[in-house]
Amino acid sequence: MRYRNQVWVFACAIVLATAATSAAAYAEDAAGCQKPPAAQTLDTQWPINIGQLAQQLVVYRCTDYMKDVAAAVDRAQNWIERRSPEVENPAVVFDIDETSLSNWDVIYHDRFAYFADGGCVLSSKVACGWHDWFVSARSTAIAPTLALFRIIQSLHDKNGGKIPVFFITGRRDEPDMRAATETNLRKEGFDSWERLFLRPVDDKGFVSVYKAEARREIEQKYRIIANLGDQYSDLIGEPDNNHAEKCFKIPDPFYFIPPDLPPAGLKCLSR
Ligand SMILES: [Mg+2]
Repeated sequence: MRYRNQVWVFACAIVLATAATSAAAYAEDAAGCQKPPAAQTLDTQWPINIGQLAQQLVVYRCTDYMKDVAAAVDRAQNWIERRSPEVENPAVVFDIDETSLSNWDVIYHDRFAYFADGGCVLSSKVACGWHDWFVSARSTAIAPTLALFRIIQSLHDKNGGKIPVFFITGRRDEPDMRAATETNLRKEGFDSWERLFLRPVDDKGFVSVYKAEARREIEQKYRIIANLGDQYSDLIGEPDNNHAEKCFKIPDPFYFIPPDLPPAGLKCLSR
């Protein structure tokens, strides 16, 4: 009887430890979440009030956001695990900001406004400039994406080879930005990649065009089986070719990078 009680206690301990581990896996102490604002229903009788909306976004960030990110990344993981062993020279593409690394600290500090220039002192009441934020390499890993990154490192393609990961970011290809981005990725656990694409300094077009061209370059040697990004501009390509077998949209209600969806939609999302 004593033995059965011990087994029962041991089993309970395992269940509790497992639950604690999975809950802790994505548990965060994100800025603004120590005392999050109360959830309210948005007043839709009038044009949506931006102050109310910002409040709701903080509530979302503190509650369901990371669960929704994990669900999207889970779908990508299922596909990548299934598809990798079927393909010769498969590759996976990750966007960086709000896909691999989180900039929530500055998003919250600036209350969803965007300031390109200026310093960034989060302890001050002055707005934080995103360029200084980026070169300070303080973005934090998005846990579900980092977990997927590590799983990909353990997978093999049809010929037993590794699955390379490419990062394609809209950050500009300036020496300090490249160095900080590499430092930040490694510091947060994204410790190896095949190539890191940064946007050429003189590129004036849509970011989606630059990103599609980068994927086209990757396709010269690899088959992109999955492309993960928080913006549609990470995922679209030509109307009939998104340059990835499947793409996965990571939730990001905090900012929007145009252009919008092409009339033909995103074929990589629909398959
Ligand atoms: Mg992004």
